[in-house]
Amino acid sequence: MLRAEFAGACLPCPAMERYRITPGSTVHLADHDPDDTSAFTGGKAAAKELAKETTQRLEELQELLFAEGRRRVLVVLQAMDTGGKDGVIRHVFEGVNPAGVTVASFKKPTAPELAHDYLWRVHPRVPGNGEITIFNRSHYEDVLVVRVHSLVPEAVWAKRYDQINAFEETLAAEGTTILKFYLHISKAEQAARLRARVADPTKQWKFNPADLAERSHWDAYVTAYEAVLSQTSAPWAPWYVVPANAKWYRDLVVGTVLVEALEGLGMQYPPPPPGIDSVVIE
Ligand code: AMP
Ligand code: MG
Repeated sequence: MLRAEFAGACLPCPAMERYRITPGSTVHLADHDPDDTSAFTGGKAAAKELAKETTQRLEELQELLFAEGRRRVLVVLQAMDTGGKDGVIRHVFEGVNPAGVTVASFKKPTAPELAHDYLWRVHPRVPGNGEITIFNRSHYEDVLVVRVHSLVPEAVWAKRYDQINAFEETLAAEGTTILKFYLHISKAEQAARLRARVADPTKQWKFNPADLAERSHWDAYVTAYEAVLSQTSAPWAPWYVVPANAKWYRDLVVGTVLVEALEGLGMQYPPPPPGIDSVVIE
């Protein structure tokens, strides 16, 4: 069991509930503080210790999920550029058996992908039984970058919120647990992270001049994210708005939500083969 030291004490961790978007509510990102670290009061050293326990527990739960082999877990990560998607994948899943976790990254669509509907490339990458799949970007790009840059007419992208809800409801009804995280950074924090990329020779490879052009559309992205969060947080596929200016806090929140969700599944190791008590190995 996790020894969590969040304010109000968890697990189970109602402190994380504050970041879950209630289905049907209207989201204004200005009301969500990206610097918030209020659910954790134990200090940096305690946070590190807790993060270690969280990843260990995640490792055990992943093995149980695999052993049970009849449920699937889909984790969706979305953020502005530099928001920390790669950092979450690296830190939260550190220690989890790489055989049990798949990362699916969704880039600019290829020509064959563009020749199909937008879910065509997504559906084959959802998790199968016993698997955890992390979407690094996702079908939500088709109502984010696509909306901001008018890559398809509004009459087309406007219908996608309902389509995405129906798609995710299907996955959930068929046995997939879906958890969606928006890693929320401020515009000033993005500036600091972009500057750090430019200045550090070991990070320069990550710098994409196109990110500066995207940054100039910040407000349009905020509007597009608010529409996503307001229209697609469902009981079967909730969004969490994760304060992400502080990386350690971001990782703790995501890790804790995942551990809680997996513990809530009530998973059991499958029964042993009959007669195992009398097995003799010579
Ligand atoms: P990165 O995640 O930094 O490697 O960048 C991937 C890029 O692909 C981002 O600029 C995304 O906005 C872009 N991208 C992902 N999905 C789509 C999509 N459906 N349509 C257009 N661009 C996309
Ligand atoms: Mg990028």
